[in-house]
Amino acid sequence: MKALVVNCGSSSVKYTLFELENEKKMAWGLIECIGLPEAFYKRQTINSEEKKEAVKVANHTEAVELIIKGLLDKNKAMISDVSEIAVIGHRIVHGGDKFSKSVLVTDKVKEELKECFSIAPLHTPAHYAGILAVEKMLPGIPSVLVFDTAFHQTMPDYAYMYALPYEFYEKDHIRRYGFHGTSHNYVSQRAAVLLRKPLSELKLITAHLGNGSSITAIENGKVIDTSMGFTPLQGVVMGTRCGDIDPAIIAYLIGQYPHYKDAKTLNDLMNKKSGLAGVSGLSADMRDILKAVSEGNKKAQLAFNMLVYSIKKYISAYYGILNGVDALIFTAGIGENSAPVRESICKNLSVLGIEIDVEKNKERSSEERFISTNSSKVKVLVIPTNEELMIARESRKVLENNK
Ligand code: AMP
Repeated sequence: MKALVVNCGSSSVKYTLFELENEKKMAWGLIECIGLPEAFYKRQTINSEEKKEAVKVANHTEAVELIIKGLLDKNKAMISDVSEIAVIGHRIVHGGDKFSKSVLVTDKVKEELKECFSIAPLHTPAHYAGILAVEKMLPGIPSVLVFDTAFHQTMPDYAYMYALPYEFYEKDHIRRYGFHGTSHNYVSQRAAVLLRKPLSELKLITAHLGNGSSITAIENGKVIDTSMGFTPLQGVVMGTRCGDIDPAIIAYLIGQYPHYKDAKTLNDLMNKKSGLAGVSGLSADMRDILKAVSEGNKKAQLAFNMLVYSIKKYISAYYGILNGVDALIFTAGIGENSAPVRESICKNLSVLGIEIDVEKNKERSSEERFISTNSSKVKVLVIPTNEELMIARESRKVLENNK
C-alpha cells in the first residue's frame, strides 16, 4: 500500500509517493511557477533519472491533475492500480487554533479549513484547491490533513499569548502558533531513538534552520515554546525575514514614509527584503554569505553574526525555561549542511553544558549524527528532516485510528 504526500505551496505543488511497508520513496517531484509562462514540472522515480519539462498549468487544480495522471501512467508503472494508494496526506501550513492534530478530510473539515483562509491567505486557498483536485482525480481514497502548526498546540497559554488587549485573541485569534511543526516533531522523534530514551523522558531544543528558521523547546514530547509566532516572521534572523524587531518600528515607518502605509508593502519589507539579504545587501543564501565573509565583506559578517546571535539567545532562553536540556538538534538546509553556523552557535555555550567536537562537526554527511564531544552534558545532533515521511506516517496513523 502506498501513501501520496501532496504539498501545495502558494505557487507550487510538490509530491512524494511512499511505499508504506518499507517507507521507501517511490516517486517524487514538483510543479513550480504555477500560472506563469515559466512553469515547469520536475519528476523522478526510484527507477528513473530526474526529468524536467516546461508545462502550461493555470492553477493548482491543473497541476495536481497533471501529477496524478503522471503517477497513474501505465507505461511508467509506478502505480498499476489506483487502489494501491491507501491514503493521501496533505501538508497544511496553518491550522489556526482549530486543528491541534492531523485529521481525516470530511465535508466539515473542509468547511473548517476554509475558515483558516484569512490567517494564511497565500497558502490555505492553494491547499484547499489541492484537496478538491485530489478528490476529483482519486475519488473514494481517504485524505488526511497534516498541519505545520499542530505540533505546537501544546504550548501553555502564557507562552502563546501576546500581551495585547484580550479581545484581539478572542475576535481575531491573534496568538503565537509556531511553524515547521512537522519537522520539529520528526527530528524530536528521531532524537529519542538516537538517544535511546523515550520522548516522554527528554528535554530537547530543536533548531530548524533553513531559509525560514525556528527554534522549539520540547519537554516530554510536548512543545513548551517556539520562536515563530502568529506568522513565520517572528523569531530568529532568517534568509529574507527580519525575525524579532521592536514592533514600534512599524508605527515609526508608517509615520515617516507615505509608501509604508499599506500592509503589503510593510509585509514585503519584513518578509522578503530583510534578514541576511537585507543586512548584507547581497544574498539570502547562507552559502553566499559565508563566501562573502571569507572575502572580508563586513556587512555579510554582520548579517552572519546577527543570525548566529539571535539563535544563541533562543537556545539560552529555552535552556532556562526547560530547566536544562538533554539534546540540541540541528536540522534543515543550514542546520544540516553548515558547519560554520553550527560551530558559531555552539561556541561559548559551555556554561549550558553544550560542547561540540569541532572535527565531528566539520565532517560532511547526510546521515543522522552526534557532533558533541563525549563529555558534553547536552548532546548535539544533526538530524536531516523528512517532513514528507512524517506526513505519510501521520496519514497512515489517522487512517488506522479511523477504521
Ligand atoms: P531549506 O529552507 O531548509 O531548504 O534551506 C535552504 C537554505 O539552506 C539555503 O538558502 C541555504 O542558505 C542553506 N544551505 C543549504 N546548503 C548549505 C551549505 N552547504 N552551507 C550553508 N548553507 C546551506
